[in-house]
Amino acid sequence: MKANVLMSQMTWTDYQRRVLAGQPVLIAIGAMEQHGPHMTMAVDTMIPQAICTAVAEIIGAIVAAPLPYGYKSQPRSGGGNQFCGTASLDAATLTALIKDLLKEFARHGVRRIAIFDGHYENAMFAIEAIDLAMRELLWEGVRDLRVLRVSYWEHIQPETVAAVFPDGFPGWPLEHASIMETSVMLHLDPDLVDMSQDWADGPAQFPLFDVYPLPPGHVPPSGVLSTIRGASAQKGKLLFENYVEEAAKAVREGFAI
Ligand SMILES: [Zn+2]
Repeated sequence: MKANVLMSQMTWTDYQRRVLAGQPVLIAIGAMEQHGPHMTMAVDTMIPQAICTAVAEIIGAIVAAPLPYGYKSQPRSGGGNQFCGTASLDAATLTALIKDLLKEFARHGVRRIAIFDGHYENAMFAIEAIDLAMRELLWEGVRDLRVLRVSYWEHIQPETVAAVFPDGFPGWPLEHASIMETSVMLHLDPDLVDMSQDWADGPAQFPLFDVYPLPPGHVPPSGVLSTIRGASAQKGKLLFENYVEEAAKAVREGFAI
């Protein structure tokens, strides 16, 4: 049996040996969300999962199976929840799922857990889950659990921004299914990207407020909030290597290892 950082491919004895050696657990939380007509709906899970796997190989960590569903897509960050295929969880469900997993890893003896978020809308519910899990664990006498939460895209370095967005950076919300995510996916798994499906109906022009229900025509029909033109596997490699390097640093710093 080949050594592997993926928990789903470990025996329980191998997992236990790693936990007893003090290895952290890294878990990606993502979404099943439209990412334009040109890409798989698993982008928000696949990118942080790939980062977790690379980081675990560098620092010696366990990668738990990712959470492939997330909180409801919002129009101004993910195009909205109205797209066919986007399959989301209620806040209470997502919070409960993450909380349960944190408590299970803690029960195994894990004391350092890093959550890698690939879907902007998950953030506050992951934070709520961390808070609830830590509070309940404290009541159970667990005082030494440390949890990190990482939004990988925040780790982009200025020189990477300059190389990937030579015409100017549109901001993370409008980047949904656009140059950054498309480039990283072209690097990670080009078979899941079809660059011929460029509807060129962006960029979105959003007001600085949310409207419920969503007015017609608010979101580009493709679900791409900016553009996929200019995305490339070469940019994806640059971005991915940047994310892995910075995420490894963050985990080492956050866990003081
Ligand atoms: Zn995404």
